Amino acid sequence: MRPVLSIAAGALALAAVPSQAQERELTEHEQRVRDIYRDVIAFRTARGHGQVDDMVAYLTGRLSEAGFANEDILVTDYDSEGDPTQGLVVRYSGDGSSGEKPIVLLAHMDIVDALPEDWDRDPFTLVEEDGYFFGRGTMDNKYGVANLTGTFIRLKEEGWTPSRDLYLVFSGDEETGMVSTRAQAKWVAENVGPAFVLNSDAGGVGLTDDYQPMAQRVQAAEKTYVTFDMTVTNPGGHSSRPRADNAIYELADALQKVRGYEFPARATPLTRSYLGALGQAIPGPMGEAMKSFATNPEDEEAIALIRTHPEFHGTIATTCVATMLEAGPAENALPQSATAAVNCRVFPGEGVELTKQRLADAIGNPDVAIVARGEPTESPESTLRDDVRAALAKSLEARYGRAIPIIPYMESGGTDGMHYRALGYNTVAISAGASRPQDVYAHGLNERMRVDAFYAGLDHWTVLLKELAGS
Ligand SMILES: [Zn+2]
Repeated sequence: MRPVLSIAAGALALAAVPSQAQERELTEHEQRVRDIYRDVIAFRTARGHGQVDDMVAYLTGRLSEAGFANEDILVTDYDSEGDPTQGLVVRYSGDGSSGEKPIVLLAHMDIVDALPEDWDRDPFTLVEEDGYFFGRGTMDNKYGVANLTGTFIRLKEEGWTPSRDLYLVFSGDEETGMVSTRAQAKWVAENVGPAFVLNSDAGGVGLTDDYQPMAQRVQAAEKTYVTFDMTVTNPGGHSSRPRADNAIYELADALQKVRGYEFPARATPLTRSYLGALGQAIPGPMGEAMKSFATNPEDEEAIALIRTHPEFHGTIATTCVATMLEAGPAENALPQSATAAVNCRVFPGEGVELTKQRLADAIGNPDVAIVARGEPTESPESTLRDDVRAALAKSLEARYGRAIPIIPYMESGGTDGMHYRALGYNTVAISAGASRPQDVYAHGLNERMRVDAFYAGLDHWTVLLKELAGS
């Protein structure tokens, strides 16, 4: 999960949400999800701690108790680049009356590790303080896990039967290797063939400084993440006898070219409507530039201005930036090789190969070898389906008592969703969470979630599923 919309705060503000009575009694569903939230946060499901399987055992226990049959619960072991983890799939069988294909719901069980000594409170104990829940995963993504699991249990206990099959698919290494994600996406393609996929791990309601709902963000596309190693090699020699050709100088020249290169501006219906909506909310020349770009994506002045802002630059083009350097064996030897890591976020549809070619052309030196690390996942853009938009609007209306703007956006890349998009499935992330930009601490210290936002989002998936899979 990544923060977006951090400068639009306030501009799309709606009327204040009625504040919840702090001391009121929790409903059975609220208590259940809070308990699951507390219990799953206690598992240190970071790479290297071997606790994903404990969390899976806990969740399957809760689901079995609620009436999910063993044959509807699938636990799979994965080796995530040397670290054992697990994935969990839960089927909620429908009666098939709608004749529609299943819906897949995503969350991830693993976390970015948290060091207790660095936190103000124990990251693996759910702490409620000053109107916040603190703990690792309170946002990313154990709220998604607890909310989706609690929703399945609630609906089962109500005796509800969906009109199509529903699947929870929880991955176990989203934050690292995504080995479980890739395997689960393949399994879903082979065994489920869903109509579409909904992800709990991004999107969500952006709140203004004074906690008013601004807009529901819908992650509908992700840029491709790829790192290129750029290497110059050289015979080297003694530093007392400098040669004209030097691997470090040559690499430095190449990096200067990368620095000065701008990838061509790109636009899709998604990014145009996103910038158009943001432009309405942002005052001054930047807002004007966004609105101009939305109507004419070839407006050079608008492009130039948008490129100056680090947060928006990536919305209109591929970006690449040098992030690491390695060169030379000793201070008194000429370098035999020099390597820089250049991290790129590739605009959907542009491709890793074309990006590499453009970098090579910009550098103009065939002696600089450019090699992509790993196997980047390229994924197309998804559209926000009308049925999903309508269900989401209904859920928001139920939560806030009024319509909330729904704004699809493109993320810089990194959630489970891209692996489903890559296989051709329409995938949008629509977290039930709500937060102010300054309260987003995912991956960082003292991760937190507003207590009132936590409870306010607990009907989100119930409303959505009853709309999309009701009789
Ligand atoms: Zn996440």
